[in-house]
Amino acid sequence: MFIIHQLPRLQFLHMPISPLTIRKPKKLYLITSTLLSNPNPVSIPTSEPGPASNSVTLTTSLSHFSTSSSQSPPQENIQLSLEKLFVPPETEVSLPENGVLSARILRGSNIVLSKYAGGGAEVVNAEFVKSSVTTEDCPSDGLPEFALVGRSNVGKSSLLNSLVRRKRLALTSKKPGKTQCINHFRINDSWYLVDLPGYGYAAAPHEVRIDWHKFTKDYFLNRPTLVSVFLLVDASIPAKKIDLEYASWLGQNQIPMTLIFTKCDKRKKRKNGGKRPEENVQDFLELIRDFFKTAPPWIMTSSVTNQGRDEILLHMSQLRNYWLKH
Ligand code: GDP
Repeated sequence: MFIIHQLPRLQFLHMPISPLTIRKPKKLYLITSTLLSNPNPVSIPTSEPGPASNSVTLTTSLSHFSTSSSQSPPQENIQLSLEKLFVPPETEVSLPENGVLSARILRGSNIVLSKYAGGGAEVVNAEFVKSSVTTEDCPSDGLPEFALVGRSNVGKSSLLNSLVRRKRLALTSKKPGKTQCINHFRINDSWYLVDLPGYGYAAAPHEVRIDWHKFTKDYFLNRPTLVSVFLLVDASIPAKKIDLEYASWLGQNQIPMTLIFTKCDKRKKRKNGGKRPEENVQDFLELIRDFFKTAPPWIMTSSVTNQGRDEILLHMSQLRNYWLKH
């Protein structure tokens, strides 16, 4: 059984498991994660057929904590094996014994909710605090922080604005002179969202690109209040080498990381063989699998529909509340 902790404001359902397919799975149980909602769901297998086995793969609809503020995009299904779930600390997950599998998983993600989720998830106020050029310059009040980073044009400013529900707050970081800085935004007077420079901007001079790299790495390695990096990856295009390198560097240096897949509303297949966002997501996850001992958390988002907004905030709340207690 998944061990569930009842939390205020959260709802979850118990769904009986129904045998669906017989395959050759790596794991006995597959979890179907409803990412989006459409009348004709498509299952996207995420685990490759493993060695021959007599076991029966059970596919189940797991309950998802979903939020009401985002519009309902079309539905796709994705199958997640238990090993691909992100299970927060102090949250026990075990296989079902009585045929009832229950869990609270954030909609459009692989993230299991823990007893730490909830407190302070809403953004009540947000203010720009400062731009720093070195890690030592950053605020020293000890509040926990989450750093947003991604390729230029990935949708970082749009996401930041969507998280704080302001149209132009993140423009502060786009002002000339601030784009190469570590920009701190204080949320609810109790934690920080940190906007880091976008990488991979082709037009930037080589020396500037190297420098950004140096100082963001220094920040990742030497910022004790950094709870998690949120690495933004554009899900409307195939995986880019530079994003894979970034993810692998974070993985190899054991920097806690959450993958935020952006632009998941861009659903049109391109004529040149382009894939749907959830296919790009699966490809990306497969490509980085070996860099991580356990599956990193990931969430599908769109700043156009607000998909994933509340899920990110809830995930941040559970990471933050755990961090504060330890
Ligand atoms: P940044 O350079 O990473 O800060 O990216 P921006 O937030 O400035 O966005 C870059 C471009 O992508 C802009 O044209 C945005 O309107 C667009 N964009 C950002 N987020 C989304 C999204 O979720 N869906 C779609 N369709 N477009 C987006």
